Amino acid sequence: MAGKSFDVIVIGAGPGGYVCAIRAAQLGLSAAIVEREHMGGICLNWGCIPTKALLRTSELYHQIHRAGDFGLSAEGLDFDFDKVIDRSRKVAGQLASGVDHLMKKNKVTVVRGDGRLAGGGRVAVVTEAGEEMLEAPHIVLATGARARELPGLEADGARVWTYRHALKPPHMPERLLVIGSGAIGMEFASFYHTMGAQATVVEVQDRVLPVEDAEISTFARKAFEKQGMEIRTGATVKSLARHADRVTAEIEQGGADIQLEDRTPRLPKTIDLTVDYLRSGLPRDAYARARVVRSGRRYASVQVEGWQDNRDRMFAQATGHFLMPTREG
Ligand SMILES: Cc1cc2nc3c(=O)[nH]c(=O)nc-3n(C[C@H](O)[C@H](O)[C@H](O)COP(=O)(O)OP(=O)(O)OC[C@H]3O[C@@H](n4cnc5c(N)ncnc54)[C@H](O)[C@@H]3O)c2cc1C
Repeated sequence: MAGKSFDVIVIGAGPGGYVCAIRAAQLGLSAAIVEREHMGGICLNWGCIPTKALLRTSELYHQIHRAGDFGLSAEGLDFDFDKVIDRSRKVAGQLASGVDHLMKKNKVTVVRGDGRLAGGGRVAVVTEAGEEMLEAPHIVLATGARARELPGLEADGARVWTYRHALKPPHMPERLLVIGSGAIGMEFASFYHTMGAQATVVEVQDRVLPVEDAEISTFARKAFEKQGMEIRTGATVKSLARHADRVTAEIEQGGADIQLEDRTPRLPKTIDLTVDYLRSGLPRDAYARARVVRSGRRYASVQVEGWQDNRDRMFAQATGHFLMPTREG
């Protein structure tokens, strides 16, 4: 089936995808962008922006508590948690609609729906109106990442959250256990702790913010502990027991042998598209090479490279280490 033709189709309208589509259009190419959720991707809608909006609130709240140090008085200080969350959602929404405007301004065609590689330089998009076929000699996969489900620690949205639940929570928690002390974990711990929850952070490595310089980790840990946050490093959450009103975590501290894969919190979504595509059968003149570079008990690290269709030139390329469950479910 022939479809609408473009010079380039970008799948995914996060910061990677929308900037790519704009630049392609500025360079004179006809560009389309396919997005199944919100323009601006995770960063604008569920990542960088809404977290910073929440942190701004908690920063102000913290500062107002110190008003006396500045000769000011602020009494009866309180907050409306729903309004705090609403503000963060509004800020995210405003920036996401700014991306829509940028698409129009740069004459990038936006196709709303779920994109799938259909072979031969084609992308099938399931839209509200049905399936739409697009075609282009160049296809860019900018599909971002998805939250990784840790076996036994699966999110349910009620007591166990992913970052999305934490950004639009069902309630303000009294106590919060944050698994992982990367930037995202520490930001959520900081926000909720400052707003009054007792936050405990569990980190498998021997320091918080383990990808930052050691001095930063030491400084950050001191600052957070001074605020009363509990931090356990060299610790692993082994299991969760879920009850109606709480979750109990079994934590092992010291000497845990954790595989490299277990430290990667989010999975590249390109794997969804590439695996999907592999299943649907490659065209005769396309090739893909996938090899397992490391295999663990539950996860294998797989490298997929050189997706090429000689007839239509390169139509997709994905190179990297992907984590794939080695067994179903
Ligand atoms: C809580 C949190 C806080 C963060 N804070 C920061 C920060 O402060 N600073 C920072 O630099 N980074 C931060 N990040 C990381 C940042 O959000 C990501 O690095 C960034 O969003 C990646 O951009 P991307 O374009 O690759 O993918 P994404 O932003 O994930 O966008 C991918 C898009 O592709 C779409 N998509 C996927 N598959 C399909 C398909 N088949 N069809 C159609 N559409 C599809 C998705 O709906 C999504 O909109 C944060 C992330 C999180 C989760």
